[in-house]
Amino acid sequence: MSRTTFTPITDFTELDLSPPLAKAIVKAQYTTPRPIQAETIAPALAGHDVLGLAQTGTGKTAAFAIPTIEHLLAHQKKGPRVLVIGPTRELVTQIDQEFRKLTARTKICTMTIYGGVSEKPQIQKLERHPDVVCACPGRLLDLLGRGFVDLSRIETLILDEADHMFDMGFLPDIRRIIQHLPEKRQNLLFAATMPKEIRKLATQILTDPFISEIDHTMPAKTIKHTLYPVREKRKIEMLRHFLRQDDFDSAIVFTRTKRRARQLAQKLEKDGHRAVALQGNMSQNQRDRAMDGFRKRNYDILVATDVAARGIDVLSVSHVINLDIPNVAETYTHRIGRTGRSEQEGKAYTFITEDDGEMIAAIEKMIGMPLEIKSVPGFEEVFIPKKTGRARGGGRGSNAKTSAGGSRQSRSGRRKPTSSRTRNTHSGANQQSDSSPGRRRRKRKNTDARQRSNSGPSASGSSRPHRRRRSSARKSTQQ
Ligand code: AMP
Repeated sequence: MSRTTFTPITDFTELDLSPPLAKAIVKAQYTTPRPIQAETIAPALAGHDVLGLAQTGTGKTAAFAIPTIEHLLAHQKKGPRVLVIGPTRELVTQIDQEFRKLTARTKICTMTIYGGVSEKPQIQKLERHPDVVCACPGRLLDLLGRGFVDLSRIETLILDEADHMFDMGFLPDIRRIIQHLPEKRQNLLFAATMPKEIRKLATQILTDPFISEIDHTMPAKTIKHTLYPVREKRKIEMLRHFLRQDDFDSAIVFTRTKRRARQLAQKLEKDGHRAVALQGNMSQNQRDRAMDGFRKRNYDILVATDVAARGIDVLSVSHVINLDIPNVAETYTHRIGRTGRSEQEGKAYTFITEDDGEMIAAIEKMIGMPLEIKSVPGFEEVFIPKKTGRARGGGRGSNAKTSAGGSRQSRSGRRKPTSSRTRNTHSGANQQSDSSPGRRRRKRKNTDARQRSNSGPSASGSSRPHRRRRSSARKSTQQ
């Protein structure tokens, strides 16, 4: 495909979309394209493969749904024609809903495939040849193996939250699914971070992709991050303190274990809060009820394990509270991505103990800025986190602005300032800078997380895709 330079759109009308789709965008009240949409819709419409580095909450679902729907509307054919693969049932459902919203005035038919529920209705829907199939890898592969799905007519493959799918051990399943697809197809791959396995996958499946990188390691600028030193035993007491504050409206509280999530939700309920747990031991129905209830504001507090950390689209969370710091630095970005969404203000509080020094440094390095440390009156703690040897915490009401990662920032090549706001360069998908910290842990399906090291950016690349990087991320790292 010949190279074209794509100027980011400033208005959806520039795309000259089919009337039903254009009307659906207006009805959805998408007045201005989000950066990821401004950059990727036009190249995707032109048929390019796309590598989008963007977090959930940036509008990436519409970024891939809009060009895909436009292609579907161009001619009628037997489905399924579009396959979207995502890591969790929640995400897949949200993608399906976004497609439904944008195809409301059309005959385009979409469906979801995921495990944990009866397969019968899914098989029946597949027999009706839906245009779009939004699927989790496990159940899809299962149905594919038993001949219930025919992917030979797929025109567009979309991999959403590819990095999360890798974390969950889904890459082998994805590779097997891809073998069932026609070779000639469009590929759109979206990820929030770019570990080297995803770079490799991108290099293998994308042809000459258009690359858009939207502050992919940077949380929304509307989020205020604070670390609160506290002894393990007093964490719940401190949480109660925050839930009593005037600025509290609704919160997702993250815990490390399922048991803790369940017990904490019960405790908070006893306190008189409308709280619900969302954790992996719950059935799909229970999880749906919890999520729906939280979204509809039947609950004010969702106590979740990391199963809830990605892909959940709740616009109005005032606080994300990390009762336990995550095990993996990237998880921090995904957790706190639940607040400060859609340009609303949000607060991300992380309770830290003296064992958390290393993870704090990794998070600061990843997001490229120091995290502010505050202490709450009555909870003053002074301790030195193990492994970093840096003093954390302070005296009464202290507001120490300390960085565990500040010195590392300047050593990271990708943090250098740039003068232009956006730029087009040519580089291979395998040349993406690695957003991960030096140490990361890989979660395998059904096993505990285990640590792995991650190398820096690769220096070589054979393909030469368009690449557009938003320098706003870099500017903010200089502050
Ligand atoms: P996503 O990153 O796809 O999860 O999108 C996050 C939220 O942004 C969803 O609630 C979308 O409906 C919403 N959204 C997507 N695009 C736009 C837009 N251009 N203007 C306003 N809201 C949008």
